[in-house]
Parts: sequence; structure tokens; C-alpha cells
Amino acid sequence: MNRLAPAFGQADLTTCDRELVHLPGCIQPHGVLLVLEEPTLTILQTSSNTLELLGVAAGELLDRPIDGLVGEEELADIREALGRLNLDANPLYLATLQVGAKGMAFQVAAHRLDGLLYLELEPVLPSGLVRTRSAGAEAREIMAELMRAPDLATLCHVAARRVRALTGHDRAWVYRFHEDNHGEVIAEDRNQDLPSFFGLHYPATDIPAPARSLFLLNWLRLIPDAHATPADLLPAVNPQTGNPLDMTYCALRAVSPIHIEYIKNMGCSATMSLSLVHQGRLWGLISCQSTKPGQTPHDVRATCELLAQMVSLQLGAAEAQEDADYKLHLRAVVEEAIAGLAETDDVVAGLAAQSDHLYRFVRSDGFAIVTPDRLEARGETPAEAMLQSLAEWLPTMGDEPVRATNALATLHEPAAAVQDIAAGLLAVQISSYPPITLFWFRPEVVRTVQWGVNPNKEKIEQTPEGARIHPRRSFDLWRETVGGRSLPWQRHEVEAARDLRNGVLNVVLRRTAAVERLNAELELRNLELDSFAYVASHDLKEPLRGIHNYASLLLEDYGDRLDEEGRRRLAALLRLTRRMEDLLDSLLHYSRLGRRDLHRDEADLHSVLNDALDTLRGRLEESGTEVRVLLDGVRLPCDRVLVSELFVNVIANAIKYNDSGEPRVEIGLGAKPDDSGARIIYVRDNGIGIPPRHHEAIFSIFRRLHPRESYGGGAGAGLTIAHKIVERHGGRIWVESAPGEGSTFFFTLGPGDAQE
Ligand code: ADP
Repeated sequence: MNRLAPAFGQADLTTCDRELVHLPGCIQPHGVLLVLEEPTLTILQTSSNTLELLGVAAGELLDRPIDGLVGEEELADIREALGRLNLDANPLYLATLQVGAKGMAFQVAAHRLDGLLYLELEPVLPSGLVRTRSAGAEAREIMAELMRAPDLATLCHVAARRVRALTGHDRAWVYRFHEDNHGEVIAEDRNQDLPSFFGLHYPATDIPAPARSLFLLNWLRLIPDAHATPADLLPAVNPQTGNPLDMTYCALRAVSPIHIEYIKNMGCSATMSLSLVHQGRLWGLISCQSTKPGQTPHDVRATCELLAQMVSLQLGAAEAQEDADYKLHLRAVVEEAIAGLAETDDVVAGLAAQSDHLYRFVRSDGFAIVTPDRLEARGETPAEAMLQSLAEWLPTMGDEPVRATNALATLHEPAAAVQDIAAGLLAVQISSYPPITLFWFRPEVVRTVQWGVNPNKEKIEQTPEGARIHPRRSFDLWRETVGGRSLPWQRHEVEAARDLRNGVLNVVLRRTAAVERLNAELELRNLELDSFAYVASHDLKEPLRGIHNYASLLLEDYGDRLDEEGRRRLAALLRLTRRMEDLLDSLLHYSRLGRRDLHRDEADLHSVLNDALDTLRGRLEESGTEVRVLLDGVRLPCDRVLVSELFVNVIANAIKYNDSGEPRVEIGLGAKPDDSGARIIYVRDNGIGIPPRHHEAIFSIFRRLHPRESYGGGAGAGLTIAHKIVERHGGRIWVESAPGEGSTFFFTLGPGDAQE
């Protein structure tokens, strides 16, 4: 690519961004430019059209003082104004004067640059554009209306309408530059002579960088007749500076041929543009067009400039207000969402309940909450499979929990298939375990634009070559450049998303902290309870033993002195003390379980079970119980003493609560681990079974379903102890059973032990 700046008129669409538009070497021919030396006011350069407008050929003017063109009084007026006004890089209207041999009246404006004085003469002619009212009268009314505009859109519409009314143009636009410098017509006022382009977007190249910087220096740019042939400067190079004339501040400056082509392709002859500047940046333009050529006199221009400056001043306030409203809205949604969340225990359910609300959070067309087993979507979103795949892809991008892109497919290729609805993505990973992700989607910009008119309705008459720079063609070009992109996410939208995540996490953390506190308290209480049970059972055993001993002595020494009834009662007392001792022993044992350290080592479960079977040997043989073991090669981290005791308790029950005549017990491993990954061990018997309503109660201490005497009796603590043992391992125990169908006890020994 040619990095050199192309000379005026030499640029094409690829180089117009560097064209030297301030050095055109020619002017628009509706006026005359005189470049003078001060203080003599000698003419150094002039435009070539002096004969037509002033009645004097250019060659006759050069190197002569201006005196020959104006009368003495006029000259005095000019000199007076030149002495009074600050004209450095600042063109000002001086006066309306008769200039030249034809006696025509001209509006004269002047400025200084590079030690040269520029006089620009524009004839006071019946304007081609019709105006109805005096500019001055309207000015005050306009200002009042602009001040009343409640928002940006109204402000811009008032500006468009007023400028058109002031100048009499066929159409007026307010054109706004986006962050990437592409433009959008955000307000329009027009008659029927020109079509509407309202809502259309244009690529940044439509107003190339050099033109944009000139717009920053000059608030107003006038092209009365795009079809007119420019008038050259004579001589081409300024004799004083030895350089081409810098026409940065010239109202008559000739227009770049590329821009002329653009205007002609729009079907226009005259245009006028006013700069809208905010914080030193070209925010946009008020741009007018007409099918017919036409001038705009200085007083109207002054009013227009004033209007543009007024709008510029108000832009900041209007935009700031819009921004502030939006920020308030974002904050309100975050606060409401968090407040709503605080009322539920389940974060996902809480967020899901607020889907409608969260959908309205940032400006988007679709919203979704995605977890591995739940999906909640609003508006336009990709299908479930794509949402899940996005949720899985997101963490692979790094640790940042909040991400925003306006070109998703460039980061995640599969999303190209859904870019019409998801070109833009704002994603918030609330947590990675469990994975909870919130998504907001924006469609491609081309889908977002408002269609002012049907783009196919108006035919482009020119050849494809000629139509290369036409607003419609530009619009198509712009559509191509923004394909796959959404409107960008604003910084405060992303920040608000971060606030939302922090808020949700705070609620969760606070709740977790509360649960942890509760757990810690419970643990303490358990420990206290265990200690109490220990002390109680330990201390109660002493007096109980005393009672037992005295009762035995009574029976031995005084039994013969008692009658039958007396002896029977003493025997019952002894039995009860023994029973009470059993109960206290169980309680003591149970309380020790809670306080004892857990010695958890990798153990072969079969050998642990064998320890238990050894303990039970006598009872197994006596009852003739058949034992089947299916635990080969199963190794688990566990406290083997405790787990052996657990087996003893459960298998002892299987032996006891059996009247089948052929008691059988099978101990084995469940087919697959539970949800936490822990393996399931089962103990199955063909005994009497347990009604479902007792399935939970049997694990409570001293809870028995049968009279003590039946089925060999027991303290009712065996399953409570079993429960405590699995609990200490972090596992679970439960039963499946029905009367007459045998029972199967299942237990696990803590999560995550599933590795073989
Ligand atoms: P116990 O010392 O009375 O056996 P457990 O806590 O071991 O106390 O059991 C509680 C109750 O659950 C028992 O009294 C019994 O009624 C019932 N039970 C326990 N295991 C079985 C089983 N395998 N079959 C039928 N009933 C059972």
C-alpha cells in the first residue's frame, strides 16, 4: 500500500484517508479568493474566476494592491476591521461590500494563516434555496427549543428540523460517529425530493480522517454546487511561502473529487455540514443536502453554527443523562437480583426465578442461565446444545469469570453458526463447581439497525463503477465489514456484570458461612452429647453395679426367708439391672465412637469382614446361617476395627431376625458407585424383613421393633452404632426391605473412594 499521502484529487477509496484535502490548489467557483500581503494588501494569489465575478482578469490583479477593486470607503472599512478582529486561523465575516468592476455586492470574510491574509468574496445573489424567515428572529426560538429537548433523540431531531428550516435544504441529517468512526443517521428531516436514509450506518471511510480533522477546525462546510468546475489558484504556488496554499480555513476550499462523486451519486447538488463536537472529539455532523444548487448567506450560516455549538454543548449533558439512567438501571437490576437471591436456599433456583428480570439487565436480545442439568432461557438464544457447549468452552479461555465479546465466532468458531443471534456474548461464570453460567446475547449489528426504508426500493441508476460511493453502496459495504459483529459491550455493562457476580457470590458465601457455623456448632454439640453420654453411662454404672450386687446378696443370703413372690421380684430386679447395664454399656460404647479418632487406612474389605465373621462364628454355627461373600479384591480406605464392628452388628441382626429355617446372608459390592463416587456395600438376608415405615427409625438409639425376648433380644443400639460408624467415615447407611422378603442393608464409607 502506498504510505505517501496522495495529493488533492489523486486519492482513491483506499488512500482517501490520507488525501491532502487542505491543499487543493483550487476553490469552488461561486466565490473569489484573494490572498494578500499585509500591510500593503498586495494581491499575491487569486482564483482564476475573477473575470466572471469581478470583471477583471486574474492576471491583471496579481502583484497589485487591492485598491483597484474597492472604493476608498470600502477599503477604509476593510482596514478598520482587519485591525480590530482576531483573524488568526479564524475566518470571520467582515462586511457586505461592492467589489470589482461589475459593481456586484459580495459578502467578505477574512482570516490569516502563515503570514498571509485570505479574503473570501461570495456574491450576494438571490439564493437558490428558499428561506421564509429571518435567521436572527429564529435564533432565540431555536435555542429555547433545543434547551427543552428531554433526551438525545429529541435534541437531534429538533436540530435536523431547525437547520433545514433555516437553510431551505431538501434534507437534513444528524449523523453520529460510533467508537470505530463508522457513522449512523440518527435523525432526519426532509421533503419528498430526497429519500430517507434514517437509521442507516456508513463505514468510517465515507468521511475519511483528513476530512474529519478539517471538520474539527471548521464548524461549517458549504458546497453550493457540486457540479461546478473548480477555479484554479493563480499562481499555483504562493510566491511568499513558496508552498501550495494551505486552505484549511477557507470556506471556498474545493471539494475532494471523491466527495463530489459521493454527493452526485446521492442525486444532490448542494450540501452543508455542521460539526458536532464533544470533549474535543468530532461526535457527529448535521448534514444537509439539496437536489438543486444553492447558497447559504453568512447570517444564516452564523445561526446554523450557533445551533451546532448549542447542540454540541447539550450533547454532553444528554449523553451523560442517558448514561446515568442506564447505569442506575444496571445497578437496580443487580440489587434486586441479589435481594431476591437472599430469600432462597438454592442459588440456581433463585437465579432461575429471576430470569425475566435478568433478561432486562444489559441491552441484549437473549439471556440464559446454564448449569449441567438446568437451563433457563429468555428471548433469542442459541439452542440448548450450543449453550451447554459455550458453558464448557468458557473456562478454557482462562480464569476471568466475566467475559464480553462482540465477535464471538472469532474466539469460538462453532458460534459462527449462530452469529445472527449470538455475535455478541457477555458471559458471567457464577461458579465453576457447580458450574453456573449466565449468558447475554447480542445479534449481528446488521440485524440491529433500524430500517428507515426498504433497501431494495430505490434503484441505483449509475453504472456499478459510478455507484461505488453511494450511501446505499456504503451501507452494503458497512454491512460486510460488520458481519459477525454485534454492537460492542460498554465498560459499565461489563462492570455491572462483575458486580452481579460478586453480589451472588457474597450471598452464597454468607450462606455457606452460616451453614459452616451451624455445622461447627452441631459438631460441638455432638461432642458434648458424647461426653455427657460417656460420663452418664460411666458414672451410672457404679451405683447400678451396687444395686445389682446388693440384689444378688439379698437373693443369696435372704432368699429362703422370702416367699415365692418376693424371690420373683428380686430376680426381676436383677434382670433389670443387667439390662440397664447392657444399655449403659451400649451407650458408653456409642459415646466412645464419637470421641475416638478415626484410623483410616487402605484395607482389604474381605479381610475386615473375616474379622467380623470370626467374632460371629459361634452364632453363625449355632443358627446354621449360610454366608456368601462377594468382596474379592475390594480395597477401601477405612478404620478396619470400626468397619468390622459395623459388619458384626448388621450380620448379627441378619442371623437374629430370621425364622426362615435356612438363614442366609450375602455380603457384596453394589454394581455402581453412588452419586458422590463412593462404592456401595450391601448385606442381604432372607429374614423377617422390616416394614418401610420403620426404615429410618431402626437407626435411632434403643429403638427396637420387637419385644426384648423375641428374636434373641438386643439393646436396640446395634444399628445406631452402625450408623455412627458410617457417619464418621463420611458415608451413608440405609435399608431396603419389606416384611417376609428379607432385608438388604446398604452402606458407603465416604465419597470419592471409587478408584480401583
Ligand atoms: P437390636 O439390638 O434390637 O437388634 P438394632 O439397632 O440392631 O437393635 O436394630 C433395631 C431394630 O431393627 C431391631 O430391634 C429389629 O427389630 C430391626 N432389625 C434390625 N435388623 C434387622 C433385620 N436384618 N431384619 C429384620 N429386622 C431387623
